[in-house]
Amino acid sequence: MREECGIVGISLEGGCGDAPVQLYYSLFALQHRGQESAGISVHDGKGTRTKKGMGLVPQAFSKDDLIELASSTGIGHVRYSTTGASSIENAQPLVINYRDGTLALAHNGNLVNSQELRYSLETEKRIFLSDSDTEVIAQVFIKELSKKDIIGAIKDVVRMLSGSYSIVMLIEDKVIAFRDPLGIKPFCIGKLDSGYIVASESSAIDVLNGVYLRDVKPGELIILQNGQMETEQLYRLKHSAHCLFEHIYFSRADSILDGKLTYQSRIKVGEKLYEEHPIEADIVFPVPDSGTTFALGYSKGSNIPYLEGLMKNRYSVRTFILPGQDMRETAVRLKLNTIKANVAGKRVVIVDDSIVRGTTSKHIVDMVRAAGAKEVHVRIGSPPIIAPCYLGINIPTRYELIAANRTIHNVETLIHTDTLGYVSLEGLVNSIGILKEDFCTGCFTGIYPVEIPGERCIVSQLKITEFQEKQ
Ligand code: SF4
Repeated sequence: MREECGIVGISLEGGCGDAPVQLYYSLFALQHRGQESAGISVHDGKGTRTKKGMGLVPQAFSKDDLIELASSTGIGHVRYSTTGASSIENAQPLVINYRDGTLALAHNGNLVNSQELRYSLETEKRIFLSDSDTEVIAQVFIKELSKKDIIGAIKDVVRMLSGSYSIVMLIEDKVIAFRDPLGIKPFCIGKLDSGYIVASESSAIDVLNGVYLRDVKPGELIILQNGQMETEQLYRLKHSAHCLFEHIYFSRADSILDGKLTYQSRIKVGEKLYEEHPIEADIVFPVPDSGTTFALGYSKGSNIPYLEGLMKNRYSVRTFILPGQDMRETAVRLKLNTIKANVAGKRVVIVDDSIVRGTTSKHIVDMVRAAGAKEVHVRIGSPPIIAPCYLGINIPTRYELIAANRTIHNVETLIHTDTLGYVSLEGLVNSIGILKEDFCTGCFTGIYPVEIPGERCIVSQLKITEFQEKQ
């Protein structure tokens, strides 16, 4: 599976030129969310300037770039495309000059109605420069901004967009951030020494020695200017639809997400996994690194010793960037090796966060057996993935998902394990400590929080009621 994107916005008290360096470090802390490209836009009091590059954050910017961009306000983005091709044209922030100024915009999420919005804008003779849904959001916003002030325009934009979006924009020296009314993508606020930061994850605040304040609420607008913050609750729905997969896999274990420390949630899920699927074994170990915290929890709950059985080659590429199944299998071998002395002659429990196609799991089980394990049991910190994601995570089609249309016993057989246990959906959400109704569970249930043609949807969550609250 592919992550989507990471976004950051920073506003410092006037005169401080540090924003680009701080954006650089915070993007570096969000690097796990996107490795295709990175970009920074700043406003230096006179105009908006942008630097974007392909690759990792250190590849995209030089020291001289950061010196040249010196300013006290800016936004940044790391990208892994979910719509639109991987190219510098689609790297963000997206910058558009319009009648009254310049807009820079960075987006994490995926619209499900971007084609129809685009079509309607094209019929009004608006010209698109890229194929990304981010440009659709920018064009809708600019159109509304020609008729209203910023807050009024955003209110109307939110009514028009369907899907997931956490957005940060730069208009002159204002950083404007908002989160979709379902709060699907993570977004939080932090206090810095001389200003404020909004970011996809709290790890981007920690790296600057800032203080995590809280999440941006679903449907909330944040305006940062000259190191000060104003907020306005634009919309409030009865329930949120936070992406459950952020808690399981995408976000860093040291990030606080929707008010919950991800590390703590994953430990509890591991304990619950043992409660639901106990087994007698000699050692428990993770598929590194995604299964590590779940395995620690499983060990804690079961008192089965935690001992590493697989070693990761930290320099290997991620398997998902390699096309085709054979290449994927080769990549597993390049990425992981068994620690034979730890597994030989033992009954082992291997813990991972999820199973997508099953190819990696089968390979790992075969490798561990070949290393001499007596029994191999697999435990998974999420329920079976049975459906795709339309909201910004690149989950394969139902046809490719091993658990779609198969029993757990079938999957167990296909990945060659002695036993297989997935944590239940109830066990998972209870361990995290957020109501099930406040999560998107689409890829586990096939029921989505927004309308998607041909899919089931929770209609009750769609009605936007206006709720204004100055804080
Ligand atoms: S469908 Fe799955 S991956 Fe996509 S937003 Fe919902 S929980 Fe997250």
